[in-house]
Amino acid sequence: MTAAGPAIPGESEEHAAIREVFAGFARREVLPGAAGRDAGSVYPAGLVRRLGELDGMGISVAETDGGLGLDTAAQLIAIEEVAYADAALASIYTAHYLGLEVFRQYGDGAARERWLRPLASGRAVAAFALTEPGAGSDIGAIATVARQDGDGWVLSGSKTFISNAREADVLALFASTGPGQGSRGLSAFALPAGTPGVSFSPPQDKLGLRSAPTYTVYLDDVRLPASALIGDLGRGGPIALTVLNAARIDIAAMANGIARRALDLASRYAAEREQFGVPIGEFQAIQILLGQMDAELQAARLTATWAAAERDRGADLRRAGSIAKYVATETCFRVVDSALQIHGGAGYLAGSEIERLYRDCRVLRIYEGTSQIQLLTIGREAARPRD
Ligand SMILES: Cc1cc2nc3c(=O)[nH]c(=O)nc-3n(C[C@H](O)[C@H](O)[C@H](O)COP(=O)(O)OP(=O)(O)OC[C@H]3O[C@@H](n4cnc5c(N)ncnc54)[C@H](O)[C@@H]3O)c2cc1C
Repeated sequence: MTAAGPAIPGESEEHAAIREVFAGFARREVLPGAAGRDAGSVYPAGLVRRLGELDGMGISVAETDGGLGLDTAAQLIAIEEVAYADAALASIYTAHYLGLEVFRQYGDGAARERWLRPLASGRAVAAFALTEPGAGSDIGAIATVARQDGDGWVLSGSKTFISNAREADVLALFASTGPGQGSRGLSAFALPAGTPGVSFSPPQDKLGLRSAPTYTVYLDDVRLPASALIGDLGRGGPIALTVLNAARIDIAAMANGIARRALDLASRYAAEREQFGVPIGEFQAIQILLGQMDAELQAARLTATWAAAERDRGADLRRAGSIAKYVATETCFRVVDSALQIHGGAGYLAGSEIERLYRDCRVLRIYEGTSQIQLLTIGREAARPRD
């Protein structure tokens, strides 16, 4: 066991069992091939299937909806362990949970049966399609239009940066049903794989998470039945934000897993690398760096656990979700950067694991809401007068 220590204070026996299963899977099956998949930008289809076989695709979804019925902390544990071994697989995994969350929170009986059950039981993979070339942080600028046609819908437009888009069985997709009304005129739809009129760009070439593909998705007069509408008409804006608030806690767990790995690599390297006749870990300058990394990481993990408890008690997650994501992703970047510093030039070489972590972790401060957007959300809540 390392300074990071895998267990978070307060973990139950059930949590320990989940940690053991996913840590074992991650170390034995995920870690060994992670560098090769990154180098070749290879989508890990077999590992995504394995996550389903391990009952990992719907951990906090109710058993009646095909999930395991455990708490959010259990889901965070699985994500953290997967991220420890491969950030790209964790990104595919968290994107699945993001798409699934739309159906979990807003699906009616039929949508739950058709989509949530297979997603939560690991028989299907989800994607979440919100971002467009002209609409990132500002979802009110979404230009993809869904117009009513008979009792169905016809969608036209494009989405970009969509994780899992081509691999997913269903996309939770947001389009404008009230052009000119900004985020008040959006609605959410279930877009099944293979729907005529949908096409994809090649995978986008990225700095990191290279085996977790993202795509531009083109929608050319795509016909969907009335039943494809998820939630109420015109409520797509609040649906997207509510779902993102919940899913940001998953990104915090992903960040914590990457940071744990970076700390482990750094302390191992500090024990092995000798300069001036001693292991560099004997220098206080290095110990201080490692101490800072450990302290900040443990605080980030506890923050995520707090947000998870908030989620389980049904709290409004605007503040807790943003705090968990902001704290963990900013911490992760600092921890990985310090770990690279401790590796010296060796950490800068292509092919070193810390170099991959450095590339992989950068996007966590951008997707599912940039750090600036998280601070604006936290700040708006903080600025509200309290008694
Ligand atoms: C690898 C990857 C995977 C992704 N996966 C998905 C996915 O599965 N589904 C999906 O829908 N999207 C996905 N995205 C998109 C991602 O969520 C967006 O990139 C993100 O929301 C930011 O939008 P943007 O890139 O358009 O940046 P912009 O919104 O253009 O922001 C640019 C800069 O301006 C700042 N900024 C913007 N508005 C404000 C403001 N009001 N105040 C202060 N600063 C501001 C931002 O913080 C940022 O620094 C993914 C992106 C990447 C890179």
